[in-house]
Amino acid sequence: MVYLPTLIAQGKLCPVHDSNHNVIGIIAINSTVLGPAVGGCRLWSYRDHADLVHDAIRLAEGMSYKNAMAGLPFGGGKAVLQLPKGNFDRAALFQNLARAIQRLGGEYITAEDVGTTTADMELLKQDTSYVAGLPVTLDYAGGDPSPWTAMGVFEAMKAATKHIFCSDLQGLRVAVQGVGNVGQRLCRLLHEAGATLVVADVDEDRCTAVREEFGAQIEEPDALISSAVDILAPCGLGGILNSATIPKIRAKLICGGANNQLAQPGDGFALREREIVYAPDYVVNAGGIINVSAEYLLETQQQVRNRVLQIPDRLLSVFARSTELNLPTNKAADQMAEHIIRGVNSEAA
Ligand code: NAD
Repeated sequence: MVYLPTLIAQGKLCPVHDSNHNVIGIIAINSTVLGPAVGGCRLWSYRDHADLVHDAIRLAEGMSYKNAMAGLPFGGGKAVLQLPKGNFDRAALFQNLARAIQRLGGEYITAEDVGTTTADMELLKQDTSYVAGLPVTLDYAGGDPSPWTAMGVFEAMKAATKHIFCSDLQGLRVAVQGVGNVGQRLCRLLHEAGATLVVADVDEDRCTAVREEFGAQIEEPDALISSAVDILAPCGLGGILNSATIPKIRAKLICGGANNQLAQPGDGFALREREIVYAPDYVVNAGGIINVSAEYLLETQQQVRNRVLQIPDRLLSVFARSTELNLPTNKAADQMAEHIIRGVNSEAA
């Protein structure tokens, strides 16, 4: 059990306050060993404060691993805000977050995540310089990271498909759970590659849009996991792979954009026992953060593309290590990420 006051005192959790001093969110900083903590801002409706804090901590840890594995000079962090009920003043909400980010003096850099947009990043920019995901200028990196995330997941899925099915995606059935910014773009790429799509989203309009555009079959959100498909692509929220869902999965490969797909790290063992190959989420969904980092470092879109195209090889090296050490793929990836982070530590020591 994490003792929250201790974490706050260590500077790992920084509360975000509104003008009445109520806590409306948290910035979680997991690691700054490789550089400032970078990770998006999530605006979501949480059951309670403990739930929000738990999510922030897990997401921030995932960002440390993701940034290390992607070879980026950044640590991991995440901002999580409680979505207010009913109508609310969006500008005031992001001004409060911007002030909290600015107080950290560059220790944390934010960008978009679930529930936040490029327009929100522009609001943040008015009160803090530690923000990326702003509109693109000329050939420079920037803007909505989702297209790069979708591209990285797609390229990783192609490589994993070749590795597992010894084929390309043509004619394979792919279930996409969540057809928002990432999922919808992934559907387009899969459709163009000749895959057959089965989709689910709690937002019916989004499902209808992908059915009309790509001929996707629509499933109920709860039923999608047990669909007769070759590949499952989780692109909604985390925790979808757990003790209740894993026994029902019929796909042979899991490769999607969602963060924290495993409810517990141990769930990787259950997938392995069922001979389902899991492409670790933070390895394959790094395209967005690669774009965010490049924007912060004033790099070009071509540099982003080059880095995103390295994701498939990185995934294959995770598969190879998992086979070599007889470990679930998530454990193999964690070891590789920890090694990168520790490597910098020992050099600095
Ligand atoms: P989004 O909010 O645009 O889309 C998420 C979609 O999932 C929404 O349409 C939502 O209705 C749907 N959804 C939520 N719960 C669901 C459920 N139980 N069943 C079916 N559908 C459900 O968010 P996004 O930007 O597309 O991000 C999707 C996931 O990818 C998140 O986990 C996010 O953290 C992760 N991610 C996103 C990026 C990025 O660049 N946007 C980068 C890395 C990781």
